[in-house]
Amino acid sequence: MMKLVFATGNSGKLREASEILGEGFELVTPAHFGITEDIPETGKTLMANSLQKAQYLYDRCGCNCFADDTGLEVDALGGAPGVYTARYAGDDKDFNKNMDKVLYELKVLEKSARMAAEYGINTKPVSRRARFKSVVTLIIDGRKQIFEGTLEGTIAFEKSGNGGFGYDPIFIADEYPGQTLADITEEQKNEISHRGKALRAMAEWLRDNA
Ligand code: IMP
Repeated sequence: MMKLVFATGNSGKLREASEILGEGFELVTPAHFGITEDIPETGKTLMANSLQKAQYLYDRCGCNCFADDTGLEVDALGGAPGVYTARYAGDDKDFNKNMDKVLYELKVLEKSARMAAEYGINTKPVSRRARFKSVVTLIIDGRKQIFEGTLEGTIAFEKSGNGGFGYDPIFIADEYPGQTLADITEEQKNEISHRGKALRAMAEWLRDNA
């Protein structure tokens, strides 16, 4: 059994990662080492934040650990919220406010496209295409390895479903049309998700190299 510290205080993420990695791994949280403060993530990219979080944890516990940083990119919003996904609508990291902001911004763009059309102005239809990207940094015996995973989909017109966490209720993966990530089961989500892909790549690397 390999023990790894996962740089997260998010219980949804911890549960997902434990399910994805399966039986060969025991995951513990930073709190296990008395690290209870928010781990800083001040980088300008997912990769920078992922490296920063893993390094912060390694510097304090000196143990094998990993961190993930995830962002939602919405094409019509120029790739936002991106690296600001957690605090898109404010520092309180309120998932509902974050989702409402994305839904509102897309509706405003769609409304202005409709108005433009009424005036005979040609505009491109507003795309709801979006993707989640996860960057995982593993530090094992002091060595760093990076793993990435992407999930393609679209933003729903309204929230749906009770499962998952974060932006799941407004994200429709291409693999499950008509259902959000919060409508499908945890197992179905993990099989296709950004974090699932990145963490399975990490598990495979560990099996071959550690
Ligand atoms: P973090 O900075 O990697 O913790 O993640 C940034 C934000 O992305 C989180 O606060 C969540 O709102 C969101 N997020 C991360 N992973 C997922 C996911 O699998 N589904 C929905 N939202 C997610």
